Amino acid sequence: MTNEKPKKDEWAEPSEPPKCLWMSGEMVDWENATVHASMLGWSSISMVFEGIRGYWNSDQEQLNIFRLDSHLERLMRSMKVMRMTSPWSVEELTSAVIDIAQTNEFRGDCYIQPLAYFGEGTPGYLSAGGRPGEVAIFSRKSTSILGAGETITCGVSSWSRISDNVMPPRVKAISNYQNSRYVADEMSLNGYDFGIILNQQGKVSEVSYACLFIIRDGVAITPPVSAGILESITREVAIDLLRDDLGIPVLERDVDRTELYIADEAFICGTGAEIQAIRDIDHFKIGNGGIGPVVAKVEQLYHDVVRGRGPKHEAWLTGVF
Ligand code: PMP
Repeated sequence: MTNEKPKKDEWAEPSEPPKCLWMSGEMVDWENATVHASMLGWSSISMVFEGIRGYWNSDQEQLNIFRLDSHLERLMRSMKVMRMTSPWSVEELTSAVIDIAQTNEFRGDCYIQPLAYFGEGTPGYLSAGGRPGEVAIFSRKSTSILGAGETITCGVSSWSRISDNVMPPRVKAISNYQNSRYVADEMSLNGYDFGIILNQQGKVSEVSYACLFIIRDGVAITPPVSAGILESITREVAIDLLRDDLGIPVLERDVDRTELYIADEAFICGTGAEIQAIRDIDHFKIGNGGIGPVVAKVEQLYHDVVRGRGPKHEAWLTGVF
C-alpha cells in the first residue's frame, strides 16, 4: 500500500462552487440557495453541523464517504441537546448526501457539511426549543491538508476549553467555535500551527478543531470524552486502528500539560485535520522532531482506510457511485 496523500490543500477555500446543494428536502442551484438577511446573527446561535469527508479511489472509480452514518447520528444527537427535532431521518439525510455527490459529479475528494438550524417562523431565538430544525447540506471539492511527511507545531493556549455545564463541547454547535477561534487566533499570532486547549480542570482537552494523542513508552494516550472534547469520530477510528490493527495499547485518561512536553510522539486527528504529527509543543521538541514510528504507521493506515484500500474497514465507507 502506498501513501497517495495529495499535496497541500484548499479544502477551506474552494476554487469554484459546486452546481447545487440540498436544502430542506430539495436540490437547489448554488446561486438560488439563499436565506433572508434577517436570519443572520441570533439565528445561528442554535445552529449545529457536521464536517464529513469523501475520498476518491481512482482504481475503483469510487467516491467513498467516510463514517457517514456516524456523522449523521452525531448531528441527530447535537440537534437533540439543542432541543431541535429533526424532520429528516439518518436514512433520508444519507440519501441526500449521496444525491449531492452524484449530482455535482464529484470525481475527486470532497468535503460535506450538513447544517441544522431553526428556520423562519416564530422568532425568539433564545427559547426556540422543541421546534423542528431545517437542514441544509453543502459540499465542495477538497484534498488533504498536509502533504505526506509534513509535521505541525502546537502551543498550549491561554484560553480554557468550554465545559459541559457552560456550552457542551460534545454538541457540535457553531457557537462553540468562538472558543476555537480565540485559540486559533492566539496561536497564529504566536507563530504556531495549532493550539492545544486545557479544560477547566487544567488538563489537556483538545485542539481547536481536532483531538489529540500522545505516545509514551509504546502506549497511546488520549484525553477521555469527559475532558471537554467533541466526541470525535476520527479519535474513535484512531483508537481502533492503534489497538486492533497495530496492536498498540490505548489509554483514555487525563493528560497533564507537561506530559505533552515529554511525549515520545504526538498527533492530532479529525475529519478536516486527518492525522498530523506534532513535531514541537511550546518549543519542546517531540521525539526527534519528525514523524515517529507509531504516528507514521497510524497515518499511513488511516489514508489507506479512508480511500478503501484493503477490505478490513469497508463498513466505514459509503460508496457514492
Ligand atoms: N474537536 C473539534 C472542536 C472539532 O471541530 C473536530 C472536527 N469535527 C474534532 C474535535 C474532531 O472530530 P471528528 O473526528 O469527528 O471530525
